[in-house]
Amino acid sequence: AKHDGKNRYCLFDANIKKIVSKRLQLEQDLRNAIGTDQLSLYYQPILELFTNSIVGLEALIRWEHPTEGFISPVEFIPIAEETGLIQEVGEKVVEMACQSLHEFSQISATESLYVNVNISAIQILSRTSDESIRKLIAKYKIDPSKLNAEITESILVEDFKAAIQFVQELKTIGMKVFLDDFGTGYSSLSYLHQFPFDLIKLDQSFIQSTSENNSNITLIESIGFLATNLGMDIVVEGIETEAQMMLAQNLNCRFGQGYLFAKPMPKHQLIKFVQEYATSTSF
Ligand code: C2E
Ligand code: CA
Ligand code: CA
Ligand code: CA
Repeated sequence: AKHDGKNRYCLFDANIKKIVSKRLQLEQDLRNAIGTDQLSLYYQPILELFTNSIVGLEALIRWEHPTEGFISPVEFIPIAEETGLIQEVGEKVVEMACQSLHEFSQISATESLYVNVNISAIQILSRTSDESIRKLIAKYKIDPSKLNAEITESILVEDFKAAIQFVQELKTIGMKVFLDDFGTGYSSLSYLHQFPFDLIKLDQSFIQSTSENNSNITLIESIGFLATNLGMDIVVEGIETEAQMMLAQNLNCRFGQGYLFAKPMPKHQLIKFVQEYATSTSF
């Protein structure tokens, strides 16, 4: 039995070693990927629900690893955050979004669309400046009001002052700022009025749990009411069914995003999708 225990311990130890070395390998691979086309952006449409029109896009990073295939941002963004690589990754994201915005501005079906980039709380806490964003906007000659930032509410809890300052810097440039994943974790309605957010993205867990849980309907209604009073519009995330879309509309949420309309897709596919969407009337 003693012998068994030791073996088990060795096995456990070996597993940890495997996990650690895989992580180190991923970190190294990510470092190498930054300058290459392994990193790209996919774009998911954001719709105005009442007119059924595409108004903007969320840019979502994709990493196509040469041997592992696509690795989810849920897996590699935390690694980037822990290692400091998030600064370079984040800058690359803004650059790719600016490049795309420039391209979209040349095409009539996409010229009016805005693009949202996700900015990690860690980037903000490590005092990312708005300077690099300003430079990229100038370099690609894009309209700053077409570039928006999505930031999660965790930053508000961690460093309120840094967050306010950053949001204000972005707004000075002319960007809009979306509060992402609203309702997860901190769920505080009380700080909303202290922040100059333009829009609130209601986390997908809300709309997806409405069928099992009626109290969530009341909650969405209250958030909608509060947001309207503060002059902020709502984007409902994760709409997957017609019923969820109708519910979002009935609760007076103006915007929506989700697989019902479209999944995130590469730029050229997105352009085609938007061109065809404008001429189709289905839904
Ligand atoms: P997020 O910012 O909340 O992005 C929305 C996620 O929900 C995306 O996952 C999107 O593909 C997914 N989604 C959209 N519609 C639906 C739906 O109807 N149903 C379901 N089940 N999911 C839907 P994705 O692309 O895997 O990204 C995951 C997370 O990774 C993002 O969550 C964000 O936190 C992070 N992320 C992605 N791109 C970036 C980036 O460029 N920078 C940073 N810092 N984080 C990023
Ligand atoms: Ca987001
Ligand atoms: Ca979100
Ligand atoms: Ca999220």
